[in-house]
Amino acid sequence: MTESGLKVVDAFDLDAEVRSLLRPQETAEDKQGRQHRLPRYFYEVPSHDAAREIRLTPQFGLNEFLLVDLKEAQRLRNYPRYVPCAVRLLAFYLQRLREAVATPLHIAVNGGYRSPAHRLSIGATPHMWGTAVDLYRVGSVVLRDQNSIETYNRVAEELSDDWWVMPYGHEIGKADDHMHLDLGYVTLVPREINEDGQEAPQQVPRFAFEERRRGDRRGWPTEPVTIAHPGGAGAHGPHPDDGDPDEPRSGS
Ligand SMILES: [Zn+2]
Repeated sequence: MTESGLKVVDAFDLDAEVRSLLRPQETAEDKQGRQHRLPRYFYEVPSHDAAREIRLTPQFGLNEFLLVDLKEAQRLRNYPRYVPCAVRLLAFYLQRLREAVATPLHIAVNGGYRSPAHRLSIGATPHMWGTAVDLYRVGSVVLRDQNSIETYNRVAEELSDDWWVMPYGHEIGKADDHMHLDLGYVTLVPREINEDGQEAPQQVPRFAFEERRRGDRRGWPTEPVTIAHPGGAGAHGPHPDDGDPDEPRSGS
């Protein structure tokens, strides 16, 4: 990692092996037979230390989205590693959930980004886009029963319609030992990269450094910044985002 930001690469310019594993711009079919185009622009993560150091939000490090076991292709478990740029949108939404529950969210192994070559990547799952996450624990609550999963599913659903929350259940397409949240098949093109339409490896590899405009990656505050709402008390009635007293506020 450099001080100038996160390195963004065009996956067409990566070496042939990595390219064949990431399959940029190829389509993958979901369980309903719909086609989805795989991401092309990835963050290149140079080392494990960099993955730990890079914060996507105040409370999520990039490393948390890269936890995989032997089901991931060997080459993609070695650094430099690659993760679709849309992962930062996922982190943004998770940060909101983190703030709503006020306790750490624990991402499962294989619960963040999974490449198309990952053995759990059967059909197009948003995990292959870096826009899905599996949580196995919220604070000290292990998510392995209907009550805990449905409780936190409801919190997530109330936060945003942008993500899909997998219902509790034992059948395919449901989950009974984790929470699955995803934003769908979102791809992200950082403004710093040049979209030249050349869908083939180029002699000079294309890359850019994504500038980060807010927050210091090394010294981000551990608590979210609170912003006072202007306008004075009672001027516009209760804010629609005011906390729901039924929402869990601690992991105990
Ligand atoms: Zn999942």
